[in-house]
Amino acid sequence: MKVISSVKKMQSFSGELRDSGKRIAFVPTMGYFHEGHLQLMKEARKMADSVITSIYVNPTQFGPKEDFSKYPRDFERDHQMAESVGVDVIFYPTDKEMYPAGYQTYVDVEKVTQNLCGLSRPGHFRGVTTVCCKLFNIVKPHVAVFGKKDFQQYVTIRRMVEDLNMDLEIVGVLTIREADGLAMSSRNKYLQKIERPSALTLSKALKLAQKLYAGGERNASVIISKAEKLIAKSPYTLIDYIKICDAETLKDVDTIRRPAVMALAVKVGATRLIDNHVFGEKLEI
Ligand code: AMP
Repeated sequence: MKVISSVKKMQSFSGELRDSGKRIAFVPTMGYFHEGHLQLMKEARKMADSVITSIYVNPTQFGPKEDFSKYPRDFERDHQMAESVGVDVIFYPTDKEMYPAGYQTYVDVEKVTQNLCGLSRPGHFRGVTTVCCKLFNIVKPHVAVFGKKDFQQYVTIRRMVEDLNMDLEIVGVLTIREADGLAMSSRNKYLQKIERPSALTLSKALKLAQKLYAGGERNASVIISKAEKLIAKSPYTLIDYIKICDAETLKDVDTIRRPAVMALAVKVGATRLIDNHVFGEKLEI
């Protein structure tokens, strides 16, 4: 497995792969891998001749009071894990390589970034779309694989790719969970042992919502208030949002008619967790 840190070298390596007719699948990440990341890489492996992953904790998607400096990092561990699932190249750039002096260009997807995490993390999606646009220009993939655990990010990237006529396919992978239902996340490392039962209330709330939906409930506020109660009664939890939105526009809905997503963000102790479920899709908890 190769590790490439220079933008120019990555571009010429990918250029040669493309010139020789090879198909490139790309998995952008911030590292500190777990089974969710590996699942994306395994899916990528099935779709292409070459699998490239990037490890880059992107400063422009973190707010000033967020966890950029303490975000978990362990390159050696990530290297071994990526190799174990057949990744060919890790693109591992520095900040200077990605945002050299004089940098001033950003990509802003307007509407789908307004609601949900866009409300509590202003500027976050502008950082995400900017770095993904740059990474797509550097890695030149035919297909890029994203997790639906970050549902708003997935919708936003799809929108950007369509709006800017980027010549690649975006594939989404269902959320990978721990055996107890907790959606895997690099940030789970921050959770204290005592907070773990509280962290499980997110997936429990989604399961409850799915059960209500399966029983015929279509009123969003009825489902939301039951989910709210379930989470709020658990210690250490502070709800940022619980919403039911149209799965494409991400606008709030009152009644579930078209495909809709229930999305939640909850602080458990000092850790902000997100999770979601698209009504009617498989939910294995
Ligand atoms: P991150 O390193 O957290 O930025 O995530 C990199 C990619 O992995 C993104 O496309 C995420 O949506 C995806 N991902 C993170 N956690 C999970 C999970 N539990 N299941 C599936 N995909 C995930």
